[in-house]
Formats: sequence, structure tokens, C-alpha cells
Amino acid sequence: MKVALITGSSRGIGAAAAETLARAGYAVCINYIERQDKAEELVEKLTREGLQAICVQADVADAQAVKRMVQRVEQEFGPVTLLVNNAGISEQHQFQDISPEWWKRIFDVNLGGCFNCIQAVLPHMLHEHSGCIINISSIWGQHGASCEVAYSSTKHAIIGLTRSLAAELAPSGIRVNCVAPGVIDTDMVQVLGKETLDMLAEEIPLGRLGKPQEIAQSILFLADYASYTTGQVIASDGGFIL
Ligand code: NAP
Repeated sequence: MKVALITGSSRGIGAAAAETLARAGYAVCINYIERQDKAEELVEKLTREGLQAICVQADVADAQAVKRMVQRVEQEFGPVTLLVNNAGISEQHQFQDISPEWWKRIFDVNLGGCFNCIQAVLPHMLHEHSGCIINISSIWGQHGASCEVAYSSTKHAIIGLTRSLAAELAPSGIRVNCVAPGVIDTDMVQVLGKETLDMLAEEIPLGRLGKPQEIAQSILFLADYASYTTGQVIASDGGFIL
């Protein structure tokens, strides 16, 4: 049984990934922190189509809540065979305006969330000698950007985590990869405003923002069509950074 846990999947990239993976035959767990309405809507949509989906509330920064979420998935569907560490938060600040509380929170969610989820699913993957972990970084995980120091630091760390863990887990038959999206049209980027988004679109060689479904396709590729690929970072950014 193919079982996928996608963190932060009530909206945006995570929701598109959950939908794509469910259509590819995965039983999916849709995770959210606040938007129960959105998560339930997606579960209903998928189950109406005869696909297998549940939703579970958990703050990925809370290790105990993550353990309970993984237990719930195991009860419903069996052990997680694919973990997509997608939950993430962002805010733009000049470095001197970053509060210690925000610095801690963004690391706890973006990086700590990966740590907590991997620790929770790994025992079964090690036991089965198979499994797939996909972490969502960003173009700002590969390059620096003004007013993005905190976010960019967490996303760089996710790439370090991916490469080192891939080396460590490859002998155990577990692949660890990363997707680095460019500017994708989700709620996360709406704070930038239409004018800035239009300007960004002009700078992107493909001439437009990405769609959440396009990142979901990269996730599906790494999960189901890349069995000899581990420790890699796939940029899905319209050629933004070449
Ligand atoms: P989004 O539209 O803001 O959605 C965020 C999702 O994460 C929501 O489902 C939200 O749940 C959930 N979430 C937030 N904090 C959480 C927590 N502590 N625990 C569990 N779930 C949590 O974001 P997105 O644009 O789809 O981004 C998804 C991932 O892609 C993030 O890691 C982001 O950094 C990365 N990314 C995005 C872009 C982009 O341009 N959009 C570019 C590069 C990388 P609720 O609905 O309950 O709030």
C-alpha cells in the first residue's frame, strides 16, 4: 500500500501534491494547522472520487503532535511510505527587524518540522528497507535574497539535511530528495502584492509564476519515477535561476 503524508496540505503546493499523489494511487494524509475547512473540503473531494484520504491537524513544530498524526495514519492506512515535508511559513523582514521569537518559530516550523516528521516515519522505513522522503526547499534555499535571511537560512538548511540524510539512508534503501520551487501562485506569495508579482513574472524566463500543480508533478516524479535518484535538488522555477 502506497501511503503518503504531506505536511501543510490544506492549501497551496501541499494540497496540489495531495491531490496528484491520491490520483497516482497513494492513500494520503492531508495535514493542516488551522484551516480545517480547507483540509476537509479536499478530503471530501478526493473521497467522492473513490480515492483514499484523511486529514489530521498537527503543528509540525510539535514533535508529540506529529507522533500522534503518524500513529493516526498508521491506524487508517498503514505505515507511511512517502513523506513530503512541505509545511512552511515565511515573512519578509530586514535582518535588524527579525525578532528572536520569529527566528525561532520559522526554524521550528520549516526545519524542525522536517526533523519531527522524519523521526516519526523513519523507524518503519528502516524496518521495511524502503521509503521516500521529499523536502520542499526554495530558490532561496540555493541563493540569497534581501529581506529573506530567516526564510532563506531555513531553506538552505533543508538542502543540507536532504543531502546528508540521503547519504546516510541510501544503504537502507530510503531515498531523500528535495524540490526547490520558484515563485508559485499560492497564498504565501500574495503578501508581495500584484505589482511585485507581475514584475517577478517578467523576470522569470518562462514569463509567468508557477502553478502549485507544477510542483506537485515534480514531487510525483521524485516519488514514483526516480528510483535511482537520491540526494538531489530539483529546481521547479521557470528558469528563474540558471
Ligand atoms: P501556503 O499557501 O502558505 O500554505 C501553507 C500550508 O502549510 C497550509 O496548508 C498551512 O496550513 C500549512 N502550515 C503552515 N504552518 C504549519 C505548521 N506549523 N504545521 C502544519 N502545517 C502548517 O504555502 P505554499 O506556497 O503552498 O508553500 C508550501 C511550501 O513550499 C512551503 O514550505 C514554502 O516555503 C515552499 N515554497 C513556496 C513557494 C511559493 O512561491 N509559494 C516558493 C518556494 C518554496 P493551514 O491551511 O492550516 O494554515
